[in-house]
Amino acid sequence: MKAREAAAQVRAELEAAGIPDAAMEAELLTRHASGLSRSAFFADEPVAEGIRDELDTLVARRLRREPTPYLTGLREFHGLELVVGPGALIPRPETELLVEVGLRELERAPNATVLDLGTGCGAIAIAIATAAPETRVIAADVSADALGVAALNVKRHAVPVSLVRGDLASAIRRADIILANLPYVPEGIIETLQPEVQHYEPRVALNGGEDGLDLVRALLTDCESRLRPRLVAFEVGMGQARHVVEAAEALGAKAGIEHDLVGWERVVTARWA
Ligand code: GLN
Repeated sequence: MKAREAAAQVRAELEAAGIPDAAMEAELLTRHASGLSRSAFFADEPVAEGIRDELDTLVARRLRREPTPYLTGLREFHGLELVVGPGALIPRPETELLVEVGLRELERAPNATVLDLGTGCGAIAIAIATAAPETRVIAADVSADALGVAALNVKRHAVPVSLVRGDLASAIRRADIILANLPYVPEGIIETLQPEVQHYEPRVALNGGEDGLDLVRALLTDCESRLRPRLVAFEVGMGQARHVVEAAEALGAKAGIEHDLVGWERVVTARWA
């Protein structure tokens, strides 16, 4: 069987189950099962006889709503191929905005130390270290499982990112630019998220307490009283940006909002200097 025929069968099964982006997912699963590169896939090379069984297993897992990146073990972020696994949240495209905010600040402060707080699989830290190789980059997370995945990515991309385990910034003495994709989903709405998210991704990476902003407020307080970074930037969910701006301003910060590619208020920045 040829690659595209195999993928077409997968696509039909995914579509029948109402899985969005079925064509793209079918390609990813077929390439994963067959080991074909993207170009070999598009050249419609033949796939080995045995891959149908492997594809059936992958499709069955996908139909139980396991996220495709956990099935393939890989996800692209900011042009980098990252290892992903159930111990860490799958990086989202909108989180690239935090990378852009960090790189912009680094242009003004090239010697700044960057802290990726709540690094998960290491996406933000590795993207910064790749784009700005002279920068000192620290990546912290409370989850040992997440740091295990991050360590694989640091090795894969051969970047000098220091991994630190700790609750928020408790293990950090100094950071100039803090990029924080903390858990911000209000506890009560986790049960309403897509099954892929609520059943497979780590709760510790999602649950932000009653209004979702418990950890954001805690980090703002730590920034105001101790860390005094030149910039802290938070990714936030829908409708949260204004609340984070208010919380930052109540602590004496100058705060701003950055919009993502679809126009949502996605990142809140705060500075004290
Ligand atoms: N953006 C994630 C979601 O869609 C939430 C990530 C987070 O809480 N930091 O579920």
